[in-house]
Amino acid sequence: MLEIKGLEVKLEEEDKQILRGVDLTVEAGKVHAIMGPNGSGKSTLSYVLSGRDGYEVTGGTATLDGEDLLDMDPEERAAIGLFLAFQYPVEIPGVGNMTFLRTAVNAQRKARGQEEVSSKDFLAMIRDKAKSLKIDPEMLKRPVNVGFSGGEKKRNEILQMAMLEPKMCILDETDSGLDVDAMKLVSDGVNALRDEGRGFLVITHYQRLLNHIQPDVVHIMSDGRIVKTGGPELALEVEESGYGNILGEVA
Ligand code: ADP
Ligand code: MG
Ligand code: MG
Repeated sequence: MLEIKGLEVKLEEEDKQILRGVDLTVEAGKVHAIMGPNGSGKSTLSYVLSGRDGYEVTGGTATLDGEDLLDMDPEERAAIGLFLAFQYPVEIPGVGNMTFLRTAVNAQRKARGQEEVSSKDFLAMIRDKAKSLKIDPEMLKRPVNVGFSGGEKKRNEILQMAMLEPKMCILDETDSGLDVDAMKLVSDGVNALRDEGRGFLVITHYQRLLNHIQPDVVHIMSDGRIVKTGGPELALEVEESGYGNILGEVA
């Protein structure tokens, strides 16, 4: 499903190499986690996959179901089923949350050759999903993320994810700044979306999120590469002894 081969990325502004050959395959139905020390390139990987400006791919490939992601606009990537939840969700003043979601859902339907969703169906869908995520209906009317608390922004991202029903979901440090209750809610939201046809890449610095979202595979990233891959036990090893031991072993 998501296949990354030898991905090398540098910053456009400065001559600084950040990713130095990332190899990673996330199969449909699986949850892969990427852990790693601060500055190892985890966010850069998610930004490059989303198509954010400021990065130059100097080598390698990234495909979703065989389609070249690196060649597409961010909108096209979303339309074919890639979803990214960021550490810092953006605020969009002047655009109501509901309008935003409806536009996004319809853009995706169009790309898939489907008809637009009717107002009635859309309302039913959003009410149902918002309720299960304990999102106040008032929040749906407010501008996207404007004045939302950290926890509300994260829940709103999970709502977006639930509405778009993506094929591949990438969550970059969705746990940062969340209290235990909010983290539980976000994790439950993600777990509810786990499905045979859907892959997840969960990026996190800390192990605690992985107590709630059980990964199938855990990767350790360091200095722009994936240096070790294992099962859920690898996350526990990080929790117990930090990154030092693992990175020392690999070196
Ligand atoms: P992580 O998410 O693992 O903490 P990042 O991908 O955020 O790592 O950062 C990887 C490295 O790239 C760090 O050394 C960071 O300082 C650097 N970096 C990323 N983006 C920029 C930028 N826009 N300008 C300067 N340095 C950057
Ligand atoms: Mg960081
Ligand atoms: Mg980061």
